[in-house]
Amino acid sequence: MPMSHVQAQNSSRIIPLADLQAQHQRLWPELQPAIDRVFATSDFILGEEVRLFEAEFAAYCHASEAIACGNGTDALELALWAIGVGPGDEVITVPNTFAATAEAIVRCGAVPRFVDVDPQTLLMDVCKLESAITPRTRAIIPVHLYGSCADVSAVMEIASRHGLSVIEDAAQAQGATSHGKKAGATGRAGCFSFYPGKNLGACGDAGAVITSDRQLADRLRQARDHGRAGKKYEHAFVGRNSRMDSLQGAILRVKLRYLDAWNARRREIATMYRDLLAGTSVVPVAVPDTSEPVYHQFVVRTAEREALRRALDEEGIRTGIHYPIPLHRQPAFAPYVSVAEADRLSVADATAGQILSLPMYPELADRDVCRVAASISQCRPAARIPAA
Ligand SMILES: *Cc1c(COP(=O)(O)O)cnc(C)c1O
Repeated sequence: MPMSHVQAQNSSRIIPLADLQAQHQRLWPELQPAIDRVFATSDFILGEEVRLFEAEFAAYCHASEAIACGNGTDALELALWAIGVGPGDEVITVPNTFAATAEAIVRCGAVPRFVDVDPQTLLMDVCKLESAITPRTRAIIPVHLYGSCADVSAVMEIASRHGLSVIEDAAQAQGATSHGKKAGATGRAGCFSFYPGKNLGACGDAGAVITSDRQLADRLRQARDHGRAGKKYEHAFVGRNSRMDSLQGAILRVKLRYLDAWNARRREIATMYRDLLAGTSVVPVAVPDTSEPVYHQFVVRTAEREALRRALDEEGIRTGIHYPIPLHRQPAFAPYVSVAEADRLSVADATAGQILSLPMYPELADRDVCRVAASISQCRPAARIPAA
């Protein structure tokens, strides 16, 4: 075959943003018997596989307890509710996150207060945190966006000075560390999503809260299961139904054993991207030196996002935007934010139009990383992003 033909064929192959099929094909020999085990018992909800996953995930995170639940949004809502957040309270978080973070706050009857993010890392700007605290503030939710941990220790220090709780949104950061501690393990509780596309993903919806507070863990276990008090059909309080399926527990137990290797490969890909993209018009989002990241997404900033995105798409390279509209600009959350407050969130506003997520998944081949980087290098933008 002539070389030009091979190249044409190669460059027309689609490089997706993420590839779950590749993962599941490889794991199928282990997933199938795990699924069979659940069918053999027909213990489909909060069964033995969920109990084992809870123990294994807690150990993995160096937390004393993990409480499995229906999804990551519920994990946040349950954690906030369990620490006593309710009507009249305010909870501080960042505006550049998935809607679920603020949704959980509003679902508890509280009001979300947004603080801006650091222009290099796009994580909570701890310098701006204290000025957002009011007499109504009850809790702070730092978000470990893209798999890099916000500086939880710094947040904890401010929180303890004001008597506030810290709930970590670790939905994108399974296995990442902050000051050497696993994501989710420093705050009063850490919340995880196992949405299929997360670094550790179920084959459906699933989530968990981790904590080392025994009483909080007990309250969470009851709350996710109708406020059930020990015996069936005895209810201590009005809870809800947010239980993990045993099938998801069984699948997550198989995948948890691969998480460190997958995260290591994600870091390897990120290093390649950084080397190959140096000197081009795009600037990778920085990782704070207090965190070992797990690159849920590899995000770059560019002054001409739409043009670059279109050019890559034409080459068969799929990209994403996480997230295009900051929460204080969303109809759902704007009612909770004054105009003056919204205007202070200038980093979140400015970067929302610049960020672009590049293909990132453990099965991504070196040659595909090179192809993505080469395609970006070939794009000649008219402008560069101003140095932050
Ligand atoms: C995925 C995600 C959630 C919500 O998790 P679900 O399992 O989809 O409910 C919350 N916060 C962040 C930052 C997320 O990425």
